[in-house]
Amino acid sequence: MKDRTLLMIPGPIEFEPEVLQALGAPTTSHVSPDFIELFGRSLERMREVWQAPTGQPFVLAGSGTLAMDCAGANLVEPGDRALVLSTGVFGDRFEDLLSRYGAEVHVIRAAVGEAIDFEDVERALRARPYKLMTATHVDTSTAVRVDAKRFGALGLSYGVLTVLDGVCSVAGEEILQEDWGIDVVLTASQKAIGVPPGLALLVVSQKALSVWSTRRTKVANYYADWEKWLPIMTAYEKRVPSYFGTPPVNLVAALDVSLGQILAEGMALRFERHRRFGAACRAALRALGLGQVPTQDGHAANTLSAPKYPKGVNGPDLLPRIREAGAILAGGLHPEIRSEYFRIGHMGAAKPGDILATIGAIEAGLKACGHEFDLGSGVVAGQAALYG
Ligand code: PMP
Repeated sequence: MKDRTLLMIPGPIEFEPEVLQALGAPTTSHVSPDFIELFGRSLERMREVWQAPTGQPFVLAGSGTLAMDCAGANLVEPGDRALVLSTGVFGDRFEDLLSRYGAEVHVIRAAVGEAIDFEDVERALRARPYKLMTATHVDTSTAVRVDAKRFGALGLSYGVLTVLDGVCSVAGEEILQEDWGIDVVLTASQKAIGVPPGLALLVVSQKALSVWSTRRTKVANYYADWEKWLPIMTAYEKRVPSYFGTPPVNLVAALDVSLGQILAEGMALRFERHRRFGAACRAALRALGLGQVPTQDGHAANTLSAPKYPKGVNGPDLLPRIREAGAILAGGLHPEIRSEYFRIGHMGAAKPGDILATIGAIEAGLKACGHEFDLGSGVVAGQAALYG
């Protein structure tokens, strides 16, 4: 039997063979002509994927948290006021992060599973001036998606810099960074970007760069300082070798391949494919009688789902059985509801067949745990949403 279990957690995910081949190819010098070319091309491709023609891409060795740290370190100075919109664990992370750099942070926190109330946000923006506002496009702890377009528009109308954590959304959920006026859209490689963990990726608007360039104080984080990295990114894009810290050569080669595949699929089709994946999973879970953490489909993510365990079933019993049936899923993450739900990632290279196989494995696990439902009803509902 094939020894392969589908990895359907919300990152890392299943990766395309060509991406893994690039990762496993002999490592070249970071100043060799072929690497300079593919690094430069990756930066150009990021602009297209982010849909930010005048944005400045940054590629750093690190995880998504470094991308968050990089945005915070460069844009916050002691005493700045920051507004954090939080829909879960990763939104909350910005509160601690921004305050480390001396920001006075105000948090608007949605109840678990609820959307952000933009009326509250607007009230806060009207009441006091803020330099910066953050939102988590898809909070991976709740599967709640924030209206990123509205977030950008509010930032523009109140003159506040906007930072969108797109770790669980970039290249999966629709983002038009420049049209929507979002100043920083950041992500990590291991989710819908489709590259194994290890890259922190950001695209920064010219406006945010000009605010950064007029800082009164030095950036307190040495490694993440744009002063170090901006000349490097600019040089590689001009196909000129440059060095500050050794780039993760193989990961950048893999990024180039994956971004090429993403653009070949086309952004609109890619967003639509993810929308269908999200709809299929939600429909299947509903057919199986499972509740979900997002309180409404309208603000439920398309890149992951967060089903609740049905009555009488718990994670330690269910998840290993789903794994035996062929799919690795993730447990709960949000501390308030950790033992009440699990998480399914459905993004990046996933195929419709992977979604249906995962639903089938969930059915097998639920059956083995004694949950009552019509066997096959989840797959039927998923098929209908995918192909109906
Ligand atoms: N933000 C979001 C929305 C995430 O899902 C994650 C990781 N799951 C992070 C930030 C942090 O990324 P990393 O684990 O790569 O540091």
